[in-house]
Amino acid sequence: MEKKQTNANLKKQIVRKVKQSGIDVIGFATVDRWEQFGETPQSYFPQSIFPFSKTVIVLGLQIMIPILDTTPSIVYSELYNTTNRLLDDVSYQLSALLNRKGHRAVFFPRDAYGDISVLVKKPEAAFSHVLAAKYAGLGTIGYNHTLLTKEFGPRVRLVSILTDAEIEPDNMLEKELCIKCELCKKCCPTSAFTTTDNLIADMDKYKCAAYHKTLKDDYHYPCGVCIKVCPIGKDRKLYGMTTKKYLNEKEALEKNPQNEQYSSWVHLRSFGSK
Ligand code: SF4
Ligand code: SF4
Repeated sequence: MEKKQTNANLKKQIVRKVKQSGIDVIGFATVDRWEQFGETPQSYFPQSIFPFSKTVIVLGLQIMIPILDTTPSIVYSELYNTTNRLLDDVSYQLSALLNRKGHRAVFFPRDAYGDISVLVKKPEAAFSHVLAAKYAGLGTIGYNHTLLTKEFGPRVRLVSILTDAEIEPDNMLEKELCIKCELCKKCCPTSAFTTTDNLIADMDKYKCAAYHKTLKDDYHYPCGVCIKVCPIGKDRKLYGMTTKKYLNEKEALEKNPQNEQYSSWVHLRSFGSK
């Protein structure tokens, strides 16, 4: 094993490596942030799960809007699977690189459930990548319970690497990115969100999981509507924001399944899945 490097050099090397691998966003959090903020029970802390943990490195990959717009569709399913595969590959390789440098390191798998039928009964995860990403300075948590980033709004898939390497953390964002426009609530096909005084909605995770089960059975999983419609993110500059189109979609297609405005989405939904 190579001799341990200085903290700053190691951070630079990690950032360079993952960026070369196509990762869009990366952030670093020290594990004391879980204690400091106390937003989750202690058994979910990285240092409780793998006691050697000192730093959590979070990687994110964008989900491209034009494909997400077609959800539920097989093309979005394939994009989702591709981002997952890339995250698995890069996080595994980064963990192994850290091991070779003499650091304990593992990646926490980005989903870690056997099948959607499990989530219908137990929708919670053993470790929150969303919270890790917030502590790593990648974004803030929005009304819809997802991580909102400056770059891609909530359209990012995340994975975390837990390591004993002591690396300078990134600053957390001070300003909330969610503007509580509630577009995600209005467009959610299961009405899973309920507004409260808090920024983050109450969410019926069971309803959401049950809907995902039907989508999975029909081969066009996941849903993703609450991330598709969110106006936050620089990716909106690239692709534009179609608020009315999103808001009117369900009613317009119920009235006229051939509605021209949605014809390309309908076309892509018509193939490769039930
Ligand atoms: S759609 Fe609006 S309310 Fe929902 S997460 Fe995005 S900014 Fe927040
Ligand atoms: S994933 Fe779909 S069903 Fe679940 S909360 Fe978001 S919009 Fe609603």
